[in-house]
Amino acid sequence: MEIFLPKEVAYKLTKALDKAGSKEIGGILMGEYISEAVYRIKDLTIQSDGGTYSFFERIVEGISNPLQQFFQKTKYDFTRFNYLGEWHSHPNFAPYPSSTDCKSMWEIVEDSSVGANFAILMIVRLDYIQCLEGTITVFLSGHKMFKGTLIQEEPSS
Ligand SMILES: [Zn+2]
Repeated sequence: MEIFLPKEVAYKLTKALDKAGSKEIGGILMGEYISEAVYRIKDLTIQSDGGTYSFFERIVEGISNPLQQFFQKTKYDFTRFNYLGEWHSHPNFAPYPSSTDCKSMWEIVEDSSVGANFAILMIVRLDYIQCLEGTITVFLSGHKMFKGTLIQEEPSS
């Protein structure tokens, strides 16, 4: 699976990561379906509370408004624009999912009220020259997971 990250979203993320320092932050990803197994991150929420040096917990109530706004903006075209998954930062560790991260992602894909047949987890951090780096892991029900590719887009102009 390929996940495109537009420049403006990358910029928003970089600023938030810089501000959060060594504390983990995160949120949800709102995506656009491009083609089979290709998506673009259209927007994301940034929750700066709830994280520590080595842990991030997303507050569930914090997402329904931004998601509703996203659905409204994209005219309820759910097949094209929908919830794509979660993201959080690993400022102090390599950007790979921990066992706790995997467990919470499988809970999301197995939660019938979420209604997603897969969810991605993007883990990001700033490298030693303050550049954004990240990984994508795709989670499916039945405790399956596989690696995806994060592609940072160049500005279109
Ligand atoms: Zn983590």
